[in-house]
Formats: sequence, C-alpha cells, structure tokens
Amino acid sequence: VAKDAGRNCFSFFTPALQVAAVARMRLTNDLRGALANEELRLYFQPVVDLASGRIHKAEALLRWEHPTRGMVGPAEFIPLAEASGLIHDIGEWVFQQAAQWVKRWRQELDPYFQVAVNQSPVEFQRQGRRSAQWLAHLKTLGLSGGALVVEITEGLLLDASPGVTEQLLEFRDAGVEVALDDFGTGYSSLSYIQKFDIDYLKIDQSFVRNLKPGARDVALCKAIIVMAHELGIKVIAEGVETEAQRDLLAAAGCDYGQGYLFAKPLAAEAFDALLVRQRDDALAN
Ligand code: C2E
Ligand code: MG
Ligand code: MG
Ligand code: MG
Repeated sequence: VAKDAGRNCFSFFTPALQVAAVARMRLTNDLRGALANEELRLYFQPVVDLASGRIHKAEALLRWEHPTRGMVGPAEFIPLAEASGLIHDIGEWVFQQAAQWVKRWRQELDPYFQVAVNQSPVEFQRQGRRSAQWLAHLKTLGLSGGALVVEITEGLLLDASPGVTEQLLEFRDAGVEVALDDFGTGYSSLSYIQKFDIDYLKIDQSFVRNLKPGARDVALCKAIIVMAHELGIKVIAEGVETEAQRDLLAAAGCDYGQGYLFAKPLAAEAFDALLVRQRDDALAN
C-alpha cells in the first residue's frame, strides 16, 4: 500500500516539477543568446528629491524583450542568470549602458546626475578587480566615481568576505555611493550600516505600501529616517504610489521618493526626454 501511495505521489508530482524544470532550462538557454541578440533593455526610474520635486538620480532596472514571450521582468530571469553564471556578463552590460547614459545626462543636462545599478551578492562576491575595472571605465568616459551609485542588499553585508569589503572601500574612496536596497526586509544591524559606510537606505516598498495617517508603519518609517540621518545617511522610499504616501514621507523628513506616483521605469530614450523637459521647464521659470 505504502509503495502504491509512494508511486501515486511520484506520478502526481513529477510531471509538474519536470514542466517547471524544463521551462527554467529553456529560459536559461534563451538567456544565453539574449546579450548577443540585443534583447536586453535598460530602463530608468526617477528618484525624486521630495523637497524640490526634482530628479537628479535614476535607478537602472533591467528588462528582457524575449522574442516570443514579450517583456520578462528581472525577478524571473535574474535568478536564472545567477545560477548559470550569465549574471557576470549581464551585469557588465548593465554597467556599460548605465555609464554611457549617465555620461550624456551629466554632460548635457545636470552635472551632478547619478545612476544607481543593482548588484546581486553573486555579482559582488566574484573574485577579481571588478571595482577597479569599473572605476577605470568611468575615468575613460571622463566621469568621476560620484556618477555611480551601487545598490546592494543586506545579505551581502552579513557575510561579507574580505574581497567584498575591499571593493566597497575602493568604491567609497573613488566617490561611488552605496545604497542599501530593500531595507527592513533583511537582518542587518545598525553596526553593519556604519561599518560599511552606507550612503543611502532604501526603505522597502512593503513598509511604504501601508503608510496611512496613524498606521504603525508611519512610526517605523519615521524611526528609520531619524536613525539614518543621525548616522549621516540619506533615505529613499521605494514604491511610492500615492500622494498621501509622499506627503507622509516628506513630513517625516524622507529625502527621496521613487515609485509609480512619479513614474514607472522608463525606456532610456523616454527617461532622457523626461530629463530634457525638466531642464526646459527650469529654464522657462
Ligand atoms: P529593486 O532594486 O528593489 O527595484 C525596485 C522594484 O520596484 C523594481 O522592480 C521597480 O519596477 C519596482 N517599483 C518601482 N516603483 C514601484 C511602485 O510604485 N510600486 C510597485 N509595486 N513597484 C514599484 P523590477 O524592475 O521588476 O525589479 C525587481 C528587482 O530585480 C529589483 O528590485 C532588483 O533587485 C532586481 N534587478 C533589476 N535590475 C537588475 C540588474 O540590472 N541587476 C541585478 N543584479 N538585479 C536587478
Ligand atoms: Mg534597487
Ligand atoms: Mg528595492
Ligand atoms: Mg559614503
């Protein structure tokens, strides 16, 4: 009987697992060609200064325009890229694209413009002199380190190897800023935040979502902001979707907001047009 039940379970579960595994394998295979076939797109989402309403920064967010499946989001393919090692070439492409665009925006529109790129722990933990290579590339473009923000997650700091620490220091010494992404969802303690000289905390959207007058998350956001400012760290709220959320955050002293209220992630050309409009509006006033 037990054997029969086992067999039943076997025949019940295996096809579903197989279908999922085969789908992942197919997508990973397609991803191998995505760079060469120019199917990757780097989108940009404005980071808005809550006091002035102006955009001086953007976060670069990767998209994959799959030939038959349409736009695939990073939550779906970054894990596959990490597992297959493709993340290193993809991350390099993201950096090169981001650097090219921030060069244009600094030269043409705003000398202090910054672009933030996301770095998964897998990318960051790679051996080698990647930070040095990136800094050298910025230099060849005539850009200072301050043009770049690197977004890392709390998990990276928890078991930071000497190589990770060294790269973070090298970035810091060159003026590259570091943002701690999805803050509040991990386990990092205040001592980590100080030890690694973080420049920005990004309050995770799960806290911003529930911001209503009197809600517990208002107290939580306020506490994060006060603490960060005491440590000399600026705060960016993620996932700002309503004016009420923006107003509560601004009243709490939050420095920057990012979210659909301001703009969704935009194709580079559309983001460029948005910055040009902002510049022209400023000139007209
Ligand atoms: P993240 O870095 O926390 O990025 C913020 C995510 O929130 C983005 O999802 C963005 O589109 C979304 N978002 C922005 N505003 C709102 C809003 O108002 N409401 C809601 N509900 N969502 C909002 P996306 O683009 O799907 O990216 C997901 C994650 O994938 C990113 O989370 C980041 O961890 C990762 N990722 C994206 N691009 C890259 C990349 O180039 N390299 C690496 N390693 N990871 C990346
Ligand atoms: Mg991010
Ligand atoms: Mg985030
Ligand atoms: Mg710093």
